[in-house]
Amino acid sequence: MSSTILISGAGIAGLSAALALSRAGVWVKVVERENALVSEGAGVQLGPNVTRILRAWGLGSGLRDKGFFPKFLCAHDARDGRVLGQSDLAQALQHYGAPHVCIHRADLQALLWQGLQGQGQWHWGHTLQTVHPADTHVMVRSASGQAWQGDGLVVADGIGSKLRQAVSGDGPATPTGHVALRALLPMTEVPRQWRTTNVHVWMGERFHLVHYPVRDGQWLNLVLVIHRRDSRETDHWSWLGEGLWAQQAVSDSCAAVCDLIGAVAQWRYWVLADRAPMRSATDMAVGRIAMIGDAAHPMRPYFAQGAGMAIEDAAALQWAWQHRGDQGVDLAWRAMADSRWRRVAQVQAQSRRNGLVFHSTGWLRWGRNAALQTLGSRLMNPAWLYGGGPRPVDGGGGVHDGPVTGR
Ligand SMILES: Cc1cc2nc3c(=O)[nH]c(=O)nc-3n(C[C@H](O)[C@H](O)[C@H](O)COP(=O)(O)OP(=O)(O)OC[C@H]3O[C@@H](n4cnc5c(N)ncnc54)[C@H](O)[C@@H]3O)c2cc1C
Repeated sequence: MSSTILISGAGIAGLSAALALSRAGVWVKVVERENALVSEGAGVQLGPNVTRILRAWGLGSGLRDKGFFPKFLCAHDARDGRVLGQSDLAQALQHYGAPHVCIHRADLQALLWQGLQGQGQWHWGHTLQTVHPADTHVMVRSASGQAWQGDGLVVADGIGSKLRQAVSGDGPATPTGHVALRALLPMTEVPRQWRTTNVHVWMGERFHLVHYPVRDGQWLNLVLVIHRRDSRETDHWSWLGEGLWAQQAVSDSCAAVCDLIGAVAQWRYWVLADRAPMRSATDMAVGRIAMIGDAAHPMRPYFAQGAGMAIEDAAALQWAWQHRGDQGVDLAWRAMADSRWRRVAQVQAQSRRNGLVFHSTGWLRWGRNAALQTLGSRLMNPAWLYGGGPRPVDGGGGVHDGPVTGR
């Protein structure tokens, strides 16, 4: 009889885990608080470490249809607009065997959902509250008292994870003092010179702006990160009608940045929080309970790898499950965590460092610009990240190079 694994949350981590474990022959039961897939959020970039896995799950042609394949990553100083460094993203396929893709989050979720082809049991509209581990199984319970039981549990309910709190009780993620503002502009409304096929990062004093095309290049996705203390909840996008904060933050910038910000009529914002880099495998696995994605390791979005790490986690779950032999769920989860925590901690730490570098002032800004001008393409093309991560396992337990830690 096949095993049943519970999954809390149907975000990118939960959907990926459901797909990965279904491909390993597991029956999944997914419990999600919303009534349908969440289509909020905007674009995400996926590096070759991530698209390699999606392709191994059979999602390559969907990725081709829904994704946008940028040519270059261009880093600018936002004050004077000059290009500091450039990385050839189109070469990812040649260097790492998989492409760099920009995709709308809703399209990524739809792709994962299609890959599932109706497998598993899906329970929508239930907010999970508590978890009850036992020697032979795990049970979770919703706020309204409904219960689900499985041989194991994958906690994937995001940065505000209630189940993480029930397991570890270590309190909420820490606000960073930064807020992300995002907008999607129809390409026809974008100032003509910025109707680009590249990813652009503009680094300013205490802010940065990233933009790239999504949806077949028909829309431009913009994310502006600014410094702002805000004590609101950290796990949803809220409306910020007009862009006063945005205009104030970039007021000292070059015309290109001001024009782009000025072209946006409405922003949404997200209060950014994170946790310190993980310190051991027990941050991802305790007995029959595994934790993945933002529930386990929320990070600042300055390395564009949060969703990527969630998808890698799912691939590592698949690998661990398919190689567990007669060992129990707890040992499979432990093998997943052992193979993951160091690499993800490195990504968490780099995400924090990137924030300092992107927003720097004075001598640090000068040093950053000098480093990017001399070593730009090397610094912007982290081989340990793009070439590492779990090697995909095919559905039947075939191609596999081991649970690579990526170091
Ligand atoms: C501005 C910004 C830009 C980003 N850009 C990138 C990028 O370019 N590349 C990248 O890889 N990553 C990026 N990220 C990070 C990425 O969005 C997250 O890391 C990723 O969405 C985490 O996925 P998740 O499934 O763990 O969490 P979530 O996406 O938050 O999903 C959690 C799911 O659990 C559900 N849920 C919550 N609580 C409960 C409960 N109690 N019971 C049941 N269900 C529950 C939620 O409704 C949701 O569906 C960015 C993030 C931000 C904020």
